Amino acid sequence: MRKKRSNRRRGKRIGEFLRQQFVDFYYHPYCAVCDRAVQPPPPSPFVCRDCLSVLPFRMDREQMSWDHPWRLFATFYYREPLRKMMVSMKFSERIDRAEAIAPFMCRTMARNQIDVDAVIPVPLHRKRLSERGYNQAELLARVIAREADISVVEEVLYRDVHTDRQSESRTVEERRRQLADAFKLDRRSPLIDALRGRQVLLVDDVLTTGATLSAAAKPLDEAGMRVVCMVAASDKEKYRGYHEVMEDWASLPERRI
Ligand SMILES: [Zn+2]
Repeated sequence: MRKKRSNRRRGKRIGEFLRQQFVDFYYHPYCAVCDRAVQPPPPSPFVCRDCLSVLPFRMDREQMSWDHPWRLFATFYYREPLRKMMVSMKFSERIDRAEAIAPFMCRTMARNQIDVDAVIPVPLHRKRLSERGYNQAELLARVIAREADISVVEEVLYRDVHTDRQSESRTVEERRRQLADAFKLDRRSPLIDALRGRQVLLVDDVLTTGATLSAAAKPLDEAGMRVVCMVAASDKEKYRGYHEVMEDWASLPERRI
């Protein structure tokens, strides 16, 4: 029995070795932003040097303030070329884009010393999920979990209220009211007890009004989990950069004294 197992393990190792040889020989990595081939060794995580310099990192503005008790982080501003990447991840299942974006979210975690036991993606309503076939927040959550060596938990939280596309353009207040109890816990899941008192990372792709993310955080918090919220991108601002302020001033009409 033991021998069989060690043979299997060796077989697996050889399989992995051959697979890697194949990948190294035939597979030329390409940049997940501009789609151009990248000369090996590939830059990690698969973004070429040119594109890396134009990605809209939030840098020291990763931690955001909002009117909820949970800490909130965003890695990027929702601007080009990231916006295009996110849209293609959402609507054309470009999983490679999640592979490129999520490792930068892991760096945000490391920089801000966010230590969690599980990653929970903000779920889609089952109707939306069947229309689209996959959940973009889950694509990101899976890569984060793999990189950080923690587990993805999908069976605890579900979305009970379906909102149509039009409602997404309503005001913040309307959305908040509509989404107030949109997310529920699946009480049958034994993980609810297992995660009580633990820190969990709630992940979504883009933060707009924050109504969805906070509505999803609420039932987790009520179940005793310590929630940290994280999105790949947000344009929300509290603090403004020096250059942006200067630009605003420059565009003001000159005051005649
Ligand atoms: Zn590129």
